[in-house]
Amino acid sequence: MSYPWLAPLWQRLRAQPERLPHALLLEGPRGIGKRDFALAFGQSLLCETPTQDGHVCGQCVACHWLAQDSHPDFRLLEPLTGEEEGVAAEDGPPTRKRREINIAQIRALADFVNLSSHRAGGRVVVIHPAEALNPAASNALLKTLEEPSPNTHFLLVSHQPHFLLPTIKSRSHRISMPQPSPIQAAAWLKEQGIQEAELCLALAGGAPLLARDFADADYLKERRLFLSALQVPKQLNWLALAEQGARADLGARFDWLQKWLYDLVSSRLAQQVRYNLDFASGLQDLATRVNLSRVQQFAHELAQIKRRLQHPLNPQLLLESVLLSYLTAVN
Ligand SMILES: [Zn+2]
Repeated sequence: MSYPWLAPLWQRLRAQPERLPHALLLEGPRGIGKRDFALAFGQSLLCETPTQDGHVCGQCVACHWLAQDSHPDFRLLEPLTGEEEGVAAEDGPPTRKRREINIAQIRALADFVNLSSHRAGGRVVVIHPAEALNPAASNALLKTLEEPSPNTHFLLVSHQPHFLLPTIKSRSHRISMPQPSPIQAAAWLKEQGIQEAELCLALAGGAPLLARDFADADYLKERRLFLSALQVPKQLNWLALAEQGARADLGARFDWLQKWLYDLVSSRLAQQVRYNLDFASGLQDLATRVNLSRVQQFAHELAQIKRRLQHPLNPQLLLESVLLSYLTAVN
């Protein structure tokens, strides 16, 4: 396992593969490596000659098929993705619009688990994320979990397990995925060649894989320009900023503004920032001059607008009105 914070769990689960529960639910925040863990672990269960520490050998027929994405006893179920959408994830960089895992995908699985496995070994199903199962698909999966086929392993990955059916949770062995300490996460990011590891980690709320996504030079540069403008409300050219922002990544701008407001309130109340470490003094300075309740009210409104952000009719107009509200709130 290439994520050191997940290595102890790997060893624990790999120690007695024959005693693994038939369904594992891997829970934890986004960006800590759950999906990669589930895939690597699932593949290790299919490898015919795993290494001593339970990793795939990379040599056997099963590994060959896995590398080709063609192992007949392995399934990865994910929401069907469509075109890229400029939608911000809850706490991450813009991602695809959230889509569902539908009942057809689960029905296809029923045939899969009822056939005998091709290599006389086990079968593995990875579902990521499990909360993407729509209600019909959840109920269909439940039936499969209630009548487990021998030697079939379900690895459910979830960022938000509270959205899962209680009955799915109760039929799975729940594992709260270990998260790295800030020091461990920063060390790992530096090993990946990431320059501003601490900043990216703060922006990602401590999740190292998300932090790695944030560590894009252009992304960080655009963010700095945007925040520099927010920092000096009196000089903020909101029309220009909205025009430029609407042509770029709207979701990212909402994300930046939201974290900025959080830090502004936090600077005022607790003299500290959580996300924008590189703007700490500017935030502190601005925080002494704003009307706190107006900023909090605007932050609340922004969160509601962000929830409806998926298909704005006119992104520029939306960003203009949001920036104008920001100016009203901080001036
Ligand atoms: Zn192998």
